[in-house]
Amino acid sequence: MELTKFCPRCGKETEKLYGEEKKLCPECYPEDNDLLQIPDTVELDICEVCGRLRKHGEWLEEYTLEDQLSARFEEFSVEDVRMELQYWEEDDRMFVRVHAFKSEIKDEYDTEIRYNKEQCNTCSRFEGGFFKVKMQLRGEKDLERISNRVADTAAEVTNEDRKDFMSNVEEADGGYNFFFSTEKIAREILDMLKAKHNPEVKRSYELIGEEDGQEVYRNVISVRLG
Ligand SMILES: [Zn+2]
Ligand SMILES: [Zn+2]
Repeated sequence: MELTKFCPRCGKETEKLYGEEKKLCPECYPEDNDLLQIPDTVELDICEVCGRLRKHGEWLEEYTLEDQLSARFEEFSVEDVRMELQYWEEDDRMFVRVHAFKSEIKDEYDTEIRYNKEQCNTCSRFEGGFFKVKMQLRGEKDLERISNRVADTAAEVTNEDRKDFMSNVEEADGGYNFFFSTEKIAREILDMLKAKHNPEVKRSYELIGEEDGQEVYRNVISVRLG
């Protein structure tokens, strides 16, 4: 006599059944059970000036769509469930499909991305006016070589848009200070540094003077390489 295990829903023979009370095959299991709880819409709070993402009240140095989505969707992660994200655009709206995998079970969930454009606490000091960025590069590593790479990357960014440029670089306190014309170029330099060096990044601002009776501030980004 032969004894086989089968799925009571689809009748297929199967090696393994899943579930607490009602046990189903890996294809039928996701019909009754969600591997992940993904809401219909997921909001991304982005600073419209520096492009950073807010997560749990903290502004993260995440600028690319890929980094921002993975930081945001991390919040929905569940132990033993692997997540893969895909996105598509439709009528100026953006959607993400979350593929979920748990052993041989797979499922997918679609959600719409909503952007909330805000100003972070650092950028709101500037009231949206023109300002410059100072980047302080510090750390133990071969800073001179990295400083040259910053200059090369800055030149590439300037080639794409002349508004974005590095106006000055100075050696200071065991490191380098770079001065950039826009947040955009500073962001691209940070992305480059993050991809290679996993730095610690802190933001602040400093008062650099007064113009037409208004205090003028400058964004300061401190980058420490491990
Ligand atoms: Zn089944
Ligand atoms: Zn900002």
